[in-house]
Order: sequence, then structure tokens, then C-alpha cells
Amino acid sequence: MASPFPTAAELMVEARRMYVQTYGEEAPRMMAVCAPGRVNLIGEHTDYNQGFVLPMALPLVTVMLGSETSDQDVTVTTLNEDADEPRKIHFHLPTDGTPLSPGSPKWANYVKGVIQHYRAPPVPGFRAVICSSVPLGGGLSSSASLEVAVYTFLQQLKPDDKDEISKAVACQQAEHTHAGVPCGIMDQFVSVLGRAGQALLIDCRSMEATPVPLADPKLVILITNSNVKHHLNGSEYPTRRRQCEEAASILGKDSLRDATMKDLEDARDKMDNVTYRRAQHVIKEIDRTVRAAESLKKGEYKEFGKLMVESHNSLRDLYEVSCRELDELVTAAMEVEGVFGSRMTGGGFGGCTVTLLQAHVIDRTILHIQITTPIFTFGNRTSPLPYIFPHLVVSLLQLYLPNCEW
Ligand code: ADP
Ligand code: MG
Repeated sequence: MASPFPTAAELMVEARRMYVQTYGEEAPRMMAVCAPGRVNLIGEHTDYNQGFVLPMALPLVTVMLGSETSDQDVTVTTLNEDADEPRKIHFHLPTDGTPLSPGSPKWANYVKGVIQHYRAPPVPGFRAVICSSVPLGGGLSSSASLEVAVYTFLQQLKPDDKDEISKAVACQQAEHTHAGVPCGIMDQFVSVLGRAGQALLIDCRSMEATPVPLADPKLVILITNSNVKHHLNGSEYPTRRRQCEEAASILGKDSLRDATMKDLEDARDKMDNVTYRRAQHVIKEIDRTVRAAESLKKGEYKEFGKLMVESHNSLRDLYEVSCRELDELVTAAMEVEGVFGSRMTGGGFGGCTVTLLQAHVIDRTILHIQITTPIFTFGNRTSPLPYIFPHLVVSLLQLYLPNCEW
């Protein structure tokens, strides 16, 4: 089954067309780069607790195409619509070392943040077009794929030391300081280091990544979009992060990665109920993620699926980051025989679910979800979109187009 989404090559053709239309000419030396979005199979809200995560890169990508200019100006146009924000941004690169400060529109902050944290400053002026097949605010990490695409683009203009982990960290810093999201390292890490046909078990403390092969033709990973947009720069995400830090501090640990359930039970009366539940989710989720990676390696998909469902229930009940639409999508998927497991993926409060199932029940599963899931309304608009976002047959995942010069 082919992906219904444009390939990186198709996005690049579209971006090039837009470049000429927007800037009125072809550039003499055109750079084209791309970076993938990701789906997290298990290990949610564990990255900023120094725990484990198990994401895989997707063939949904952000493409950036453009060229250097002779001045200190940056102009970028996006082909993706995000709320009522303008599609074109323009700013001047300070030459006196003044930092690029965040501002409006919101999406410009991802570009500014990456420039600010680029590891071989100063960067030259440039103009470019951005085009992405990753849904914006859908929990598949359009933000990290945008950051990594911008970083990779800058590397074409002015090379850095090419250290991939430092690149991921710089992109994470950009999201912290400029987008206002205190995210963990997972999204940027997998966008830089993810490859087709494998998931990555990432130890977010040591930054070690172990590839877990994921190319069994009998297996399908289905991503469904609740079409509920999340807003991670609101108060919920930072609040969760703070609660985890508080729990770790009560337990006398550097992070919840070092805590066991016994530690938590022993300190039960030293923390409030909410903090206790948040910590319980994180401690158990870290353990589940390591076990899930083992199951996947051994082809024990039933066990993997069971852990996915446990993860979802924990995110719903203990961490309280799910929402009605995500819960309904998971319930619907789990009603189909041949489905191993299903869970919300990403930060939560909307976005997507990820489901692991036997390849031969894919059509039945999609149909069942479509029939049983009521049409969600948000704002005063009923979404005409189907809930099934992409369905991706793992064995058909393609390698990303290498970054190139046109
Ligand atoms: P997610 O990373 O799950 O998609 P986030 O809320 O972290 O959700 O990031 C979404 C935001 O990233 C968008 O609201 C927008 O500001 C920015 N963004 C991502 N991709 C693009 C793009 N191609 N063009 C413009 N803005 C983008
Ligand atoms: Mg994001």
C-alpha cells in the first residue's frame, strides 16, 4: 500500500516552483534539504525525565529549498497554512552579536531559534521556501522536522562540525528558547538520526540510540489523526514537566529515571496525589518502553501491543494528557481482531494515535474506525476530513531523499 502523501522529491518540486514564483527567479546555487517527522511507538513524556523513548522517523517530511543572499536578510515562505499567520517572514540578521529574539508570527521563531543556536555562527543571509507533509500540531513533530530542516539548510550554507547529536540538541534549544516549548530531546533526535525500516530506542540520558528493526511485511503501523490540534506552548506541558521535577526532588533523585516504584511508594505521604500519579506514569512508562523494545526485537507483537494499551491508559488516567477523541480512536482500533495495540502518540491534548496491527486487517481496521468514531466537532466547524491520516505500511517506508544541491 503506497503512502497517500507526497514524497520528499515531490515536495521539493513544489517548493522550487514556489521559490521561482515568490522570488521571481531561479537562484544560481539552490540548496534543497529535508527532515522527517516522527511517530513515537511508546515512551511518552519520558524524554525530559531522562528516560527511554521508542520513536520512528516517518516518510512525512519538511523540505526547505533556497539560496544564500549577499546581504544579511532572511526571507522564508511556507507553503503550509497555520492559523491566520502570514506565510512569508522577513528579518535582518544582527551583525553586532545581538540575539535574534522571538516574536510574531509564531512559526518564524522556529527559524530564528535554529539560527540563534547554529553551531557555526554567524550565518549568511538567505531566502527560502518551506513545504511540509507533516501535519502541523498533529503530534507527529512538524516542529522538530522544521527545526532540523532549517539546521540542515544552514549546514549547506556554512558547514559546522557535523556532529549529529549536537545538531539535535541545538534544535531542541531552539524550541525551548524561541518557541517556548520545554520539550525533551526525542523529536529532534529521531528527526536527525532516524532511518527507514527501524525504530530507535533512545536513552535520553546518555543519548545512546539502539536501532530496532521494524520492517516485517506482516505488520502495519497505522496513524490516525483526531484532527484536534494541540498547543504545547500552553501551560499544560510545562506544568507536567514541573510536576516531574518536583517528584524527583522529593525522592532525592536527579530525575525520575533514577526512581523505582518502591522509592515512590516509600515517599507516598510526602507528595500530593497529582504529583504521585504523574511520577507513577513516568516510572512505569520508562520500564514499559525498555520491555516494548525487547518485544519488538523478538517479534512478540502481542506483548508489544499490550504495553501500548497500558501506556495509553496511563497517559489518560495518571498523566491526564489524553482527550475524548484520542480515547475513542484507541477504543475503536482495539475492537478489531488482528490489532495488537493502540495508543495516543506525542505530547497529547489532541494529535494522533498509533496502532500496531496485522497487515491483512488494515482495510477492516480503517473501516471500523471510520464507522464507529463519531465526527468530531471543534470550534463551530465539523471536520470534513477522514480520521485516518496516513496509513503506512512499514515494509514500504522509503529512504528519505538525500539532501542535495540543485
Ligand atoms: P507538532 O510538532 O506535533 O506538529 P507543535 O505545536 O510542536 O506540533 O508544532 C507546530 C508548530 O510548528 C506550528 O504551529 C508552526 O508554528 C510550526 N511549523 C511546523 N511546520 C511548519 C511549516 N511547514 N510551516 C510553518 N510553520 C510550521
Ligand atoms: Mg512539536
